[in-house]
Amino acid sequence: STDLTIDQLADWLRRFAGIVEQNKSYLTDLDSAIGDADHGANMARGTAAVVSHLDEANTVDALLKKAGMTLVSTVGGTSGPLYGTLLMKMGMATGNVTQLSTAEFARAFRAGLDGLIARGKTELGDKTMVDALAPALDALDASVADGAQWPDAAAAAAAAAAAGRDATTPLIARKGRASYLGERSIGHMDPGAASSTYLFDALVEVLG
Ligand code: ADP
Ligand code: MG
Ligand code: MG
Repeated sequence: STDLTIDQLADWLRRFAGIVEQNKSYLTDLDSAIGDADHGANMARGTAAVVSHLDEANTVDALLKKAGMTLVSTVGGTSGPLYGTLLMKMGMATGNVTQLSTAEFARAFRAGLDGLIARGKTELGDKTMVDALAPALDALDASVADGAQWPDAAAAAAAAAAAGRDATTPLIARKGRASYLGERSIGHMDPGAASSTYLFDALVEVLG
């Protein structure tokens, strides 16, 4: 099918939490190089809390808004309000539905990313999660424009997210704690860019 059901969206968030949990030490190692060594713990705590509320929603908007609010209230670090805004704004954009087409998912994700960028006062190339999310969403939009459907569209987005994440390594951080290091942030992958690729890896898992 071309649509993601609400059950698949819940599964998406559950699998995101699972991948975060598996990579918790890795994310913390990345954050220990250019931050305060808590990104793995922050994301694992927040996404586990999201999973605990997944069965409370009956519509896509309620599911995503609840997940976003849960991240804001449980993550603690800078990444919580940013991931939370992404999912809350995404939920506000979908409306009161029980499934999303590829195009509807991409449009909602765009609203979420716009909200994250506004809240983070950041742009592409600042060495943040946006550097993985934005190219992934551009790839998803390109798939939609080409008429590609879910499995292929998700795989293209995941590949673009990974490339964007890898491209953060040589950059100077301009936002967040890593920016305090200035040029010493060069040569280290951004932790939030790494964790945000898991959103697309999880999408591939759901649809694979
Ligand atoms: P904290 O820095 O408060 O400890 P985390 O370690 O959980 O929070 O998250 C750090 C990540 O947050 C960074 O790797 C980066 O991707 C992201 N980040 C930080 N500031 C911004 C911002 N202004 N805009 C977008 N992303 C940001
Ligand atoms: Mg941190
Ligand atoms: Mg912190």
